[in-house]
Amino acid sequence: MSHLLQVVVATPAHSAIAGALTYRSPAPLAPGTLVRVPLGRREVLGVVWDAAPESSELDAASIRAVAGALDGLAPLPAAWRGLVAFTAAYYQRSLGEVALAALPPQLRELTPVQLARRLKRPVTDTSGPPVTTELIALSPDQTCAIEQFDAESAGQRRPSLLFGATGSGKTEVYLRAAARVLAEDPEAQVLMVPEINLTPQLQARFEARFAHLGRERVVPMHSGLTPAQRLKGWLAAHSGQARLVLGTRMAVFASMPNLRLIVVDEEHDPSYKQQEGARYSARDLAVYRARLETTVGGSGPKAQLPGGPPPAPPEGSDPGPAARAADSVCRVLLGSATPSLESWQATLTGRYQRLEMAQRIGAPTLPAARGSLPPGGAAAPAAPMSAEAGGLPLVRRVEMNHQPKRCIIAPPLLAAIKERVARGEQAMIFLNRRGYAPVLACHDCEWKSDCPHCSAYRVFHKIDRTLRCHHCGFTERVPHACPNCGNIDIAPVGRGTERLEEHLAELLAGVTRPDGGPVRIARIDADSTRLKGALEAQLASVHAGEVDVLVGTQMIAKGHDFRRITLVAAVNPDGALFSSDFRAPERLFSLLMQAAGRAGRDARHSAASEMWVQTFHPEHPLFEALKRHDYPAFAAQELQEREAAGLSPFGFSALVRAEAKTQEAAQGFLNAAAEAAQAAQLPGHERVTPYPAVPMTIQRVANVERAQMLVESASRMALQRFLAAWQPVLFDLRRQAEFKSLVRWAIDVDPLAI
Ligand SMILES: [Zn+2]
Ligand SMILES: [Zn+2]
Repeated sequence: MSHLLQVVVATPAHSAIAGALTYRSPAPLAPGTLVRVPLGRREVLGVVWDAAPESSELDAASIRAVAGALDGLAPLPAAWRGLVAFTAAYYQRSLGEVALAALPPQLRELTPVQLARRLKRPVTDTSGPPVTTELIALSPDQTCAIEQFDAESAGQRRPSLLFGATGSGKTEVYLRAAARVLAEDPEAQVLMVPEINLTPQLQARFEARFAHLGRERVVPMHSGLTPAQRLKGWLAAHSGQARLVLGTRMAVFASMPNLRLIVVDEEHDPSYKQQEGARYSARDLAVYRARLETTVGGSGPKAQLPGGPPPAPPEGSDPGPAARAADSVCRVLLGSATPSLESWQATLTGRYQRLEMAQRIGAPTLPAARGSLPPGGAAAPAAPMSAEAGGLPLVRRVEMNHQPKRCIIAPPLLAAIKERVARGEQAMIFLNRRGYAPVLACHDCEWKSDCPHCSAYRVFHKIDRTLRCHHCGFTERVPHACPNCGNIDIAPVGRGTERLEEHLAELLAGVTRPDGGPVRIARIDADSTRLKGALEAQLASVHAGEVDVLVGTQMIAKGHDFRRITLVAAVNPDGALFSSDFRAPERLFSLLMQAAGRAGRDARHSAASEMWVQTFHPEHPLFEALKRHDYPAFAAQELQEREAAGLSPFGFSALVRAEAKTQEAAQGFLNAAAEAAQAAQLPGHERVTPYPAVPMTIQRVANVERAQMLVESASRMALQRFLAAWQPVLFDLRRQAEFKSLVRWAIDVDPLAI
């Protein structure tokens, strides 16, 4: 007799096969078992999801048989399946796509025989050399953060957010939290997700710290590994042999049977949001996964699936001390110097625990008096630093309205750079060149291309010279002159820094270092680091002191420990203040805080280190907060604006994107889909607002026209119900002859930018 099974396989997002397929097997197979199954003429990897319902109406004879089970492997755990099912439902993708993408690519190619051979390879000695790592003394802030985190582990076990200033020693807190978990339970596993660029540095540090666990207990998991290395790491995590997995975004899906702690460092970083396929947020999934991995009183994972918001508090009341004794708990620890406003708001409402570390390590408790204004007094005076900002650099704002027209580096900043170089110190010139949607501004008055109907700026679309609101869709031709003052010089905010490196070389041509040599300038950005190893080599030369002035994009603002840099300058940050993207100020603040954190890492220099900001809007609240290194003040102001506008975390949104041969077809498809949703009175529709379709900021790519439609709701649940019901409608429309020229469409839930 044969058993019917539901098996999920990798299905293209837009194929007709959305859910699981039915196969038969001579033996019952547990959910989570990996199998090879025939699909069309191919044989593919699948995951047994469930037993098929008994009353299957399918003709048993027509059901194909499973080709083989990968029985050397334990079934994927229930919590893992719960995570995959949630991801597929929440981000509006197919189960098979998410499940198979979460497995290492090489696993898809191996036959059961090949896999068995791999698994038989002798496991390397795991006893390990008896290494003792010298533990550094903790700062009072670190001690306090760890104590509070431990106290929460015994109580409510909310997600914890470590709000720690740059240089306050967050990594050491992660290491101690991980060490505690690993020491308490010989089976326990920890998942550490650092910001993507920092993985190699952290891996060395973690390997050294946990060397006593034995070799190969710390396993990396990122896309830079070979397929064979990825499979090896995945198998180690899945078998429980790996105690600590250190991975990037995708590692949130690592199969770890005894996961007890997930750490997400730099939790605010936009790179945690996947930008293709299933557009998941690894940070949000980490929070959700911790809930799934927590079993209370042996009741199994609380797999509350579709519809539930990921960052929600654990439901139900305290099970009581008796039940807690049998708990297996998975904690989640997020960390940042500038948390996402979503996570910050969760700490304000008490859904998340907040741990604070305000002091840089080695910083004096009370900062010494700071230097005076530069010659000419062009920089706005900065208030004395508050004690809370211990050891952080002085922030100087250069008011660009008072500088020579069209100058790129203002004279006072240039003088400051020259002075530093002559003293043998390093300067970092930071370019905020992200792809902000261009907003037009008048250079003679305060006019900006704002939308008369929304609290948003209209985006300049070069292709047809229009200004379009990405919120409500309101569109006008670009005016010939400023509507306010008649000036014909209206241009996008924040442009004109492309040739900064060459320009700096000209400006600094006559300057010499203390040893008499010429100034050495280096640029680090996506272009200069395309070759493998280029970034590491360039960073090494900065560390070695072979560079005097470092020019770069947000890439250099993050994490790297440049000890001799005493001056950091942001030359053109205004674009983010006036952006159609409501998250742009949050990102700017975070980048500037991180950039500032690069200055004076060495305690000997920190007293003289400075951050310079060139701006036409020195009184902007963002810069006021930056001057005081005051993230809570910035967050309070920004959250107030978001609440008034119904934006995240107070409102929820999704984007539907469509690509077609013509812009009309792409927009037509989206508008037709919105009309169909209205006509069908889809569940949740009364609380959901779809806006008219607009062209995307980058409207045409490789001759394909792209459009998007914003969908908003004050209720995450209503939006989820609406999207789930809307998907089949979109599939149906796609098949109609009218939309034959449509190339593709996709839904992005909780989009990063609109
Ligand atoms: Zn004007
Ligand atoms: Zn508008």
